[in-house]
Amino acid sequence: MDRTILHCDCNGFYASVECAMHPEYKNVPMAVCGDPQNRHGIILAKNELAKKYNVQTAETIWQAKRKCPDLVLAAAHHREYQRYSRMINAIYQRFTDRVEPFSIDESWLDVTGCQNLFGDGKQIADTLRNTIREELGITISAGVSFNKIYAKLGSDYKKPDATTVITRGNYQELLFPLPVSALMYVGRSAREQLDKLYIKTIGDLARSDKRLIAGKLGKVGELIHDYANGIDDSPVASIYEQREIKSVGNGITFRRNLTGIEDIRLGVRALCDTVAGRLRKHGLKCQTLQVTIKDPQFKVITRQRPLPFPTNLSQELIDLSLEIVSSSWRIGAPIRMLAITGSGLIPADQVEEQLSFYTNPDAPARKKQEKLENAMDIIREKYGQGAISFGTVIHNDLGIEKDD
Ligand SMILES: [Mg+2]
Repeated sequence: MDRTILHCDCNGFYASVECAMHPEYKNVPMAVCGDPQNRHGIILAKNELAKKYNVQTAETIWQAKRKCPDLVLAAAHHREYQRYSRMINAIYQRFTDRVEPFSIDESWLDVTGCQNLFGDGKQIADTLRNTIREELGITISAGVSFNKIYAKLGSDYKKPDATTVITRGNYQELLFPLPVSALMYVGRSAREQLDKLYIKTIGDLARSDKRLIAGKLGKVGELIHDYANGIDDSPVASIYEQREIKSVGNGITFRRNLTGIEDIRLGVRALCDTVAGRLRKHGLKCQTLQVTIKDPQFKVITRQRPLPFPTNLSQELIDLSLEIVSSSWRIGAPIRMLAITGSGLIPADQVEEQLSFYTNPDAPARKKQEKLENAMDIIREKYGQGAISFGTVIHNDLGIEKDD
């Protein structure tokens, strides 16, 4: 029997939370941005009225104001967004314990076992939409399907405040005309490779020769070919069995050995960037950093140090990583593989209070860095990993890829 899976996605989440907290924002075009005082600050989210003026996520305040001079700007309140996220997931759990958050404003629900109680997938999705709108003032879009991948495409299909049901009878008609980039895990580099094969839509990919795609794209190729065809057995994790994360790490074996400090900086930056991004995605900070270095003879060293403050900021991980490398490795000696792991994880909102301006002289600078990195997360979530990165990482011959 097919499963019934929902993917629920909050519409313009940050802006919706701001509007829910400040009803006066509801009737004006409004956007959430990093720093409202800074003309070059970036738009992170906008409400429906601002959308009518074509205000775009990731453009500068200055660009947005040119299109919509009366645009009201609100600063981002990340802790409130976390709080709303928890409340929304608690509502999902009234229907099933199989709720798997994917990001701050998206979750999958497996409702296969509870339809006798609450109606079919569409009815449950509609009830959820109404409940969340009435209780919290937030609208969501829901996709209902027989696997997670199609459910996610369904929640994207019609927005805001809509339910889309993708069945075995209609998936070709609804999903096949969509661009391949709509599919999960099709990042910029995969899209470019598919483009060379004249594969533009999900339908093109579904009907292509799987061996050809696997030959070009490896494991990811097999995976996305299956996804395009609606083959995805991955379960929705139960809220009870969700493994507690003990550490967040990433490692790269480089295309050529790292031979100097510039190379090392590049590698460290790419690794810390993904580790910090994952920490933020899970709402965590780490207290300890571990660096592992492997040389071309496969000799491995591992060094670990506490961070001055719990953090999920890329820049702070980079600083300590470079300190560790310089004090434990002869700079210039070739490095084949580098790995960075953050451990001693604690919830991010638990530490915020301890860091007042009085106890930490760097607090203003940290706040600024935090805003910058949060803004990068939002842009990446919307436009893919490769959309934005620190300039130095983009062009390199080390095999560091920011995509996929
Ligand atoms: Mg959303």
